[in-house]
Amino acid sequence: MPSTPTAEAILSGDRRALAKAITLVESQRESDREAAQALLKEILPHTGNSVRVGVTGVPGVGKSTFIETFGQFVIKQGHRLAVLAVDPSSPVAGGSILGDKTRMEKLSREEAAFIRPSPAGHALGGVAFNTRESLMLCEAAGFDVILVETVGVGQSEHQVAGMVDFFLLLMLPGGGDELQGIKKGILELADAIVVNKADGASEALANTTRQHYAGAMSLWSHDAFWQPRVMTCSALHGQGIEAVWETVGEYAEAARASGRFDDARASQNLAWMRQLVDELLRGQLATHPRVKAALPDIEAAVRAARQTPLSAAQTIIALAGEP
Ligand code: GDP
Repeated sequence: MPSTPTAEAILSGDRRALAKAITLVESQRESDREAAQALLKEILPHTGNSVRVGVTGVPGVGKSTFIETFGQFVIKQGHRLAVLAVDPSSPVAGGSILGDKTRMEKLSREEAAFIRPSPAGHALGGVAFNTRESLMLCEAAGFDVILVETVGVGQSEHQVAGMVDFFLLLMLPGGGDELQGIKKGILELADAIVVNKADGASEALANTTRQHYAGAMSLWSHDAFWQPRVMTCSALHGQGIEAVWETVGEYAEAARASGRFDDARASQNLAWMRQLVDELLRGQLATHPRVKAALPDIEAAVRAARQTPLSAAQTIIALAGEP
């Protein structure tokens, strides 16, 4: 059982305490969950003071190389940077492929950086739920730039977009988004598309790709105050990295000026709460003795079309509500 670090230790920026606290919020034990919630309640007033940036892209696009270079650049500007990962890989498949310290070797040695590999397990609300809480802990520990990394191939992008201020999509030179394995709808989430590997023989192609996406992105309006940017960079050679950081800064400024920054976070918190209500209720129903006893018959009735799904759902809820 992980020991509970104190709120003071986290607020003082103690990295070991932060790491332990994240282990605690990732734990699925009931007693750990309670300790984690108590800790989160204490640190809550000290959260929120950061720019949260989602970084996504298919495997091989250069996410870790980008985060390594971008992260070092951001730290040089005097910031403290945390890297969290939302890993869609199943616990069965094992290993986390994101947020791995060995993929960001130099950054991981920086005092001003904190890199947390993604958890292998799935807890309440999925991995993204833990990530939201870890993010709050990082903010309380004084990290003012938080990167949330994910693979751009599945559902986790929507979850990540729901917890960050700015969503950055890394792309490869050439090939359409679908050819690159980017799922439909991900493009619409992007506040910036960055075509990586704009160097050497790929540079010209990267520029053509940039133009292609600039055209595509101009077709739909995102938010009134922000037109998604499309740019190129070479994470390997550190080119275009500064421009990406400036874009994040411009976005944050524009979002704050329009009131959108705080509004978006407030809506994100509400959406998070509503999702939890759904999940907690479902969890309670699933373990309710009367519901458990009656469920096989109810499911059989729905399967055989003897009962409508709605009336079955109402029966289940009524069973749980009986004194
Ligand atoms: P990830 O799977 O998205 O994290 O991608 P990696 O960062 O591991 O990069 C995949 C491969 O692309 C590695 O061999 C990197 O060295 C290479 N790579 C990453 N960024 C660049 C870049 O800007 N230019 C070039 N030429 N190669 C790059």
